[in-house]
Parts: sequence; structure tokens; C-alpha cells
Amino acid sequence: MKIKKKGVWKSWNENIQHSYENLYQITTEAELQKIIKESEKVRFFGNKQSSADIGAGINTLIDIRSYDKILSYNEEQKHITVQAGIKLVDLIEAVEAKGWCIPCLPDINTVTLGGALATGTHGTSGKLLASYVHTFRVILADGSLKEITEKEELMDAFRVSLGVLGVYSTVTFACETNYTLHVKEEPQKDSNWLESISTNLTKFDFLRILWLPHTGKGYQITGEKVPAEKEISENLGPKYLQYRRSFSKLLYKYTHIFPWITAIANKILGRLFFSSKRELKGSLYQATVTKSRGSTIELAEWTVDLAVFPQVFQELKKTINQWSNNSFIHIPMDVRFLEKDSSWLSYAYGKNTVTMGCVSRNASTADSYEAFKTIEKIFIKYGGRPHWGKRFEAKDAQLNEIYPKWSDFKKLRKELDPTNKFLNGYLKQVFNETT
Ligand SMILES: Cc1cc2nc3c(=O)[nH]c(=O)nc-3n(C[C@H](O)[C@H](O)[C@H](O)COP(=O)(O)OP(=O)(O)OC[C@H]3O[C@@H](n4cnc5c(N)ncnc54)[C@H](O)[C@@H]3O)c2cc1C
Repeated sequence: MKIKKKGVWKSWNENIQHSYENLYQITTEAELQKIIKESEKVRFFGNKQSSADIGAGINTLIDIRSYDKILSYNEEQKHITVQAGIKLVDLIEAVEAKGWCIPCLPDINTVTLGGALATGTHGTSGKLLASYVHTFRVILADGSLKEITEKEELMDAFRVSLGVLGVYSTVTFACETNYTLHVKEEPQKDSNWLESISTNLTKFDFLRILWLPHTGKGYQITGEKVPAEKEISENLGPKYLQYRRSFSKLLYKYTHIFPWITAIANKILGRLFFSSKRELKGSLYQATVTKSRGSTIELAEWTVDLAVFPQVFQELKKTINQWSNNSFIHIPMDVRFLEKDSSWLSYAYGKNTVTMGCVSRNASTADSYEAFKTIEKIFIKYGGRPHWGKRFEAKDAQLNEIYPKWSDFKKLRKELDPTNKFLNGYLKQVFNETT
């Protein structure tokens, strides 16, 4: 185990920074247990890619990225067991090499598994990543080890835990047989994609809309499962599409000073990068997950009941198109769909849900990005739930209203961590604790 003394912890986009006294880079479960047991206060982190201030802010920190081995496979059950610091890219590649898949993947592969699970990371047309966990080995606040399997009710509390119930040590995933998707991408007017959501959710195995604010359009991505050998003439669109993110960054460079430039930039970006059709074939991972990002961003994301989404969308669209409130939004707003589940802090607890992302491509000026505040105000009004790893203001009282299991989760947290060992300043506010 390596130890770093007295330094500054910085999130990936450097928006969050905290000094620390001791930072441990662990490689074994025993090391993890020992530090947790012996620390009065401690936080642990993965790839530091959350926009919420949940990874550090305590004098003792644990970096779990070097605790990242694949431990075993169960061929019969299609189970894989890994250490929680593994990056998603390594986990997914190992799963695919077996001919298996995890059937719902986020649009990022650099995050750690532990970080992704703790914050309710998700993809589209399926369930949260955490829903596919079969077994956790967790280190609790007193340093003891607990195994939790999917048969136990406690599993629903632990699947999305914000890292406040304990540290996931190892994780066993229940995988499925891998499949091939025939993916089609095309621009659609807002009225078209919005009205066809229900039909498309039934018709397709994969549905995602990249909404293009201030343009009246979205870019719809659908996928159908096909036999792997089916011939498809792929059309990846013009070569210059690969420059979309860097070109966007350039156009948005001064939008923190002149936010209205965003509306014009979006029309240009829509024309250049979202007007052609594309068609491709591959596994869910190969055909739909972004493999690399050249620059940092700042993110918020809100989720709401599928049934009320059209109303929320119309209100959001109307609001951000009123130039007076300066709520201009960078391209794209990612619209995805989650099936209802039973994880206590899941966005889809008890209801089919739509998620809507909000991005600022200028990470360093995100504090002045009015859109983050506007989207929160609108979604909260409709009972919307914030993404745990992204930017939001809601605290205990509001969270209690939007998560039916909030008070049960708080009670369990207090039982498992009576001295608030795992709470940093931000999490204290979230859980309304003073110490
Ligand atoms: C470019 C980008 C794209 C994204 N795309 C998506 C997406 O498609 N879908 C989506 O839902 N989210 C998405 N996210 C959000 C991202 O998945 C989460 O913020 C995730 O938590 C980041 O993982 P990390 O390894 O960086 O975790 P960190 O940010 O380092 O940690 C996050 C939290 O997890 C806790 N934690 C870390 N390891 C453990 C562990 N072993 N046990 C318990 N708790 C632990 C930490 O204490 C902290 O509270 C995206 C983020 C970015 C920056």
C-alpha cells in the first residue's frame, strides 16, 4: 500500500478541491478493512468523475483504483466477480470476451465500478447498473466484512449507497448472453420523437434521444437485436463528425459571458453534426458507449416519471426559450429510459422513468450556468429525482419527499455508521447531520 501525505484532492474537472492529510492507495481487502476500522473519519473514491462533492473533503482518503482485479467467473451462472476499483472498460471487455454482457451500460467507460454503483449510474432501455449485481462484499464502518446477496432485502438498500453504508469491496455481476444491435440514428422534430416514445419503447430494444435545445429537434438513436451474422451496410456519416465535441467547446467558449451565443451555436452544431443519418451494428458496448473524451465537462441530470415527462419537457422547452432568464443549454440533453426497480435510492424506484442530462461544456464556469438551476426547479416541481453523482442543490427535506425510502435509508445509515465516519461536509447536508 502506498501513502501520500498532505496534498490536494482534485476532481477530474478540478471543480472540487479539498486538502487531505493521508491518502492511501490500497490493493487488498485487508488494507481496506484496516484503514476503515482505524479511521475516525474516512472517504474513498474511484476515478473522481462525479460533479457532486461526495468523494473527498475528509483528512483520510482511500483511492481504490488500484484494487481492480478480476477474481473469478462462474460459467454456468454467467457470473463475474471483481474488485470494486476496476474500471468499467476492463470489466466490460472481460465480460464480452466470455460472450456475455451487462445489459444496460452508461455512456462512459473510465469510471470505477464502485463509483458507478454508489451513484446509481445507468444507461438506457434497462435498469441501473446496480440492478445487475448479484452479490456484494462490503466493509462496514466498524471494519467488519458483510456479504449481501440478491436474495436479501438489504440488497435493495445497498445497490445505490452513495458510499455511506460501507465500501463495496468485491462485486459479483449476473451477466446475460451478449447480443448484436442494429443501431439507427437520425434527426427528428421534437413533436415526432416526443409523441413516439411509448411506441418506440415497445418496438425497439434500445432508445435514446440526444435533445438539441433551442433548435426544435432531437437526434434519435434506436437499436434492434439482430442475429450477429445479419448483413448491414454500415453508414457512419461524414468523417468530420468525430470533431463534434472539440468544435462544440470552441463555439461555447464565451457562452459564460454571452449565454445567448448558445442558441446560435446549437443551430450550427445541429446542422453540422446532427443532421445526417447513421447506421451501424455491434454489441451494446461497441455500438453505443463513448470510448474516449478529449475534454472535461460539468453535468447535472434529472429523472422523472415516464407518464409526466411530456409535460415536464414542454415546460422546460418553453422556459429555456425565453431568452430573458439566461437558461441556455449546451448540446445535447441526453434523454434515456429506465425500467422500474426496487433499489431504495434508485431514480426508477417504483416507476418507469425518463432521465434528462444537462451539460456545461465549460466546466470551470459551471457555477454561472443558469440552466442547472432552471432544470432543477422544473423537475423538482414534478417529483423529479437528481442524479447522485451530478450537480444538484436539493437536500434532506426535498429528498425525503421524492424518495419513498429516504427515511428508511437514513435509519439504516445511522445504525451502520453511528459516528458518521463516512460523512463529509456535503453529505452531512444531504443527510441533515451536524457532526
Ligand atoms: C463524461 C461523463 C459521462 C457520464 N455518463 C454517465 C452515464 O451515462 N450514466 C450515468 O448514470 N452517469 C454517468 N456519469 C456519472 C458517473 O458515472 C458517476 O459520477 C460515477 O460515480 C463516477 O465514477 P467514479 O469512479 O469517478 O466515482 P467517484 O466520483 O470517484 O466516486 C463517486 C462516489 O462513489 C463512492 N465510491 C467509490 N468507490 C466506492 C466503493 N468501492 N464502495 C462504495 N462507494 C464508493 C465515492 O465515495 C463517491 O461517493 C458520467 C460522468 C461523466 C464525467
